[in-house]
Amino acid sequence: MVRVIMLSPPGAGKGTHSRWLTRQTGAAHISSGDLLRAEVASGSELGQQVAAYTARGDLVPDDLIFSILAPAVVAAARDTGGYVLDGFPRTMPQALRSAQFGAELRLTSNAVVYLTAPEEELVDRLLDRAQRDGRDDDTLEVIRHRLAVFTRQTAPLVEYYRGRGILIELSTDRPEAEVQADLLNQLQARGLVDPGTGEPIARPRRASENGAAENR
Ligand code: ADP
Repeated sequence: MVRVIMLSPPGAGKGTHSRWLTRQTGAAHISSGDLLRAEVASGSELGQQVAAYTARGDLVPDDLIFSILAPAVVAAARDTGGYVLDGFPRTMPQALRSAQFGAELRLTSNAVVYLTAPEEELVDRLLDRAQRDGRDDDTLEVIRHRLAVFTRQTAPLVEYYRGRGILIELSTDRPEAEVQADLLNQLQARGLVDPGTGEPIARPRRASENGAAENR
């Protein structure tokens, strides 16, 4: 089953391709941005803390994002056997901590999809999205800041995952269907989805998992 991290600058199509991959494979879609926006919308004290960072385009602190994300990843992997992580990890400390956490729980990621597009194309797409969705961090000034934050804090993860041999780099400066066909091919080549159907490769359940399911 796919356990994939989607890594990309804002506007490269992380959300779109994550949702597609989720439909294609049956793995759970976990979007850090969606979880944070839901927390903000709830009006909780935690949500107010989160909003102070997201509105400026800064990353929320690692501890905070980890405490929100980790339970969702564990539940998703238990329920579907896989995950598509959309927007996490985004800093080296997040990546190192989730690698350790993944190893302990046998939930290590088996691919990292790095989506790219020229910077001006990213800005244009985000400004278009601003008109459609009205996200309050999609103003030109905040977009430029989010791109700079990506370069400074998230881009180092590309070489880290390339070094681990699990990076799949794809240009999204072309039709969506082409990106998706390419992605599927690369996942098939790594044995993560079935070559004939594009369906996930079934993972045999261990007896202990069946027990855990019964106890839920
Ligand atoms: P985009 O990729 O367009 O920036 P997201 O929805 O992925 O949009 O993220 C929106 C905002 O949520 C980010 O600008 C950041 O403030 C916060 N965020 C999302 N994921 C993380 C993360 N892993 N670590 C810290 N902050 C995050």
